[in-house]
Amino acid sequence: MPKERRLITSALPYTNNVPHVGNIVGSHLPADIFARYCRLSGHDTVFIGGTDEHGTATEIAAQIHNLTPKELCDFFYKIHKEIYDWFGISYDNFSRTSKDVHHRTTQEFFKAVYKKGFISEEELDLPFCLKCERQLADRYIIGTCPYCSHGNARGDQCEKCGNLLEPAKLKNPHCAVCRTNNIEFRKSKHLFIRLDKLSTKIEKWVKSNKQLRSQVKNLALGWINEGLKPRCITRDLKWGIPVPLKGYEEKVFYVWFEAPIGYISSTREWSEKKWKQYWTGKSKLYHFLGKDNIAFHTIFFPGMLIANGNYNLPYNVVGLQYLNYEGGKVSKSQGFGVFCENLPSAGLEPDYWRFYLSFLIPETRDTEFSWKEFQERINTELVSNLGNFINRTMTFTHSKYQGIAPKAIFGKKEKSFLNKIAKRSKNTRKLLEDVKLREALEEILMISHDSNKFFQDNEPWKNPEKSKPIILACLNTCKTLGLLLMPYLPASSSKILKMLNADDKDWKKLDALAIKQGMKLNKSELLFRNLEDKEIEHLKNKCSKVTEYFVERKKEVEEMKKKPEVPNKEELDTCEACDTVPFEQFKQLDIRVGKIIKAQPHPNADKLYVLLVDLGHYGEDRQVVAGLRQHYKMEELMGKNVVMVTNLQPAVIRGIESNGMLLASVNKNKVSLLQPDKDMVLGAKVR
Ligand code: ZN
Ligand code: ZN
Repeated sequence: MPKERRLITSALPYTNNVPHVGNIVGSHLPADIFARYCRLSGHDTVFIGGTDEHGTATEIAAQIHNLTPKELCDFFYKIHKEIYDWFGISYDNFSRTSKDVHHRTTQEFFKAVYKKGFISEEELDLPFCLKCERQLADRYIIGTCPYCSHGNARGDQCEKCGNLLEPAKLKNPHCAVCRTNNIEFRKSKHLFIRLDKLSTKIEKWVKSNKQLRSQVKNLALGWINEGLKPRCITRDLKWGIPVPLKGYEEKVFYVWFEAPIGYISSTREWSEKKWKQYWTGKSKLYHFLGKDNIAFHTIFFPGMLIANGNYNLPYNVVGLQYLNYEGGKVSKSQGFGVFCENLPSAGLEPDYWRFYLSFLIPETRDTEFSWKEFQERINTELVSNLGNFINRTMTFTHSKYQGIAPKAIFGKKEKSFLNKIAKRSKNTRKLLEDVKLREALEEILMISHDSNKFFQDNEPWKNPEKSKPIILACLNTCKTLGLLLMPYLPASSSKILKMLNADDKDWKKLDALAIKQGMKLNKSELLFRNLEDKEIEHLKNKCSKVTEYFVERKKEVEEMKKKPEVPNKEELDTCEACDTVPFEQFKQLDIRVGKIIKAQPHPNADKLYVLLVDLGHYGEDRQVVAGLRQHYKMEELMGKNVVMVTNLQPAVIRGIESNGMLLASVNKNKVSLLQPDKDMVLGAKVR
């Protein structure tokens, strides 16, 4: 297979809570297995994730815990990160949507969509809670469902009958936070993305995409057949990304719109130099996400990408179904489920979890976590099948052949066995390539099953001398297993390969006989242990515990609050007159070499120019408003190299947006633009 460039994403978890194992099997783990497979197969792979931090839910949770939204997100980001690291989720970058790179990327993304005419304006009548003094997002307003009379329906959707709602449709609406009905509907202008105008193109992409599973495709087509409508992309909130458009300075982007752009900004944060290669041209984009996110990744985000016009569309959207728990739905409030924050201290290594959870990846239908099945899978498959085969082969080699791969010539029997294994190995890779991760794992276990049978049927213990070809064949199968298990059980597979004294890091040699006669093997160690009833009982109690973070980690929260906050860029300077900045703040500035490619007078100000600055490879051309009219003629500025601060929040100066700041030396009435004193490539960083 020719080597490809692949970008893999896992849905961005929201930071007002902590994941349970359903979240792990619903995106992080399958994305990780697939990313590891891609790397092993030699594809140029980047695996991206991050936390989704903005929006009302965060604002409200922060209010409840007496923290700022930023503090709340810092706290939860840390917990999320610890959990994914513990599971061995091999993100190349795990970012945050509150980061500056995401703000910038979102604003640029929006501007392109706006320029192409896919944004419209509409007046909305939105609920405002007079007691909480905030606009209420749809799901923070509750009332009686007009369809089924359920008394606790949320403003976005009725949980009972599943109908989509709007706050204005609810009877007896009240605020979900303070529970009062002091609600007023207020009119305000909002921006909409014209999904109606994009519908034909989205439909064409969905229909022509051969990778989408039927559940995913049908769900997307269902949305399209119902008719796509313009969808609101702005909200009146404080905690979010400011909308860079005149008249909208007080609004932020609706989280649904900016969160998926987080995939782009996380890639950009991973490498400012290379990120575009993965989003444009010959690169395949794979999204992994849960059922509830399918519409966002097959309709809304592709629609946004089409509207923007600068990015590839997803190659595959791997939409996963749900994981249930012991016959019911996971419920954090009832302590019903396996909550990940408990796992690191529960005493069972990540590979046991990864093994069982890999069986539970809900690829085509909902699956169910059961402690009994957990115990059985570990004891029968991991211990008696896989662990046993590797252990008996290693032990036999050490006790009968002094730990050296025996000298042997393969006969018909061994050749036919190795052929069979090679076929299964090939099939495993085909299944992985098709993102059938459960089936691929089952195929790997069949290799181990066949190998155990081969060992058993040939009874090498009866005549070790004559059995050398049998054992050499088995050692090679151990190697195949060690390699194929790498995406699923990273720690155990490295143990297997270490015992075999094999250090291959990729799958190039998967089909070759790698354990040669005469090779010295390393010490053998037991790979897996049985899970006894007692341990299962302990795990069950421990892992379904619901952590009171703000009680148990209170000290951490307090320490975090004591640390002085580094000021936001927005507090830094967006004004024309500011002339001093503390060093701590200065360090955060991204300063680059640019070139003025266009200059014109500001229509509403005598002293200002509107300039266009080329930043070369660093990004698109920037518009800057600069007070240079008394100091430079227009033609003097054209083609001039300049030094520019690129990561300031956009400012609107006398009605025109400014996206950066040129640096100049100023003395009394004299102003001189700074320039690098050698010829520098455009976009070069200034330190
Ligand atoms: Zn209802
Ligand atoms: Zn309220």
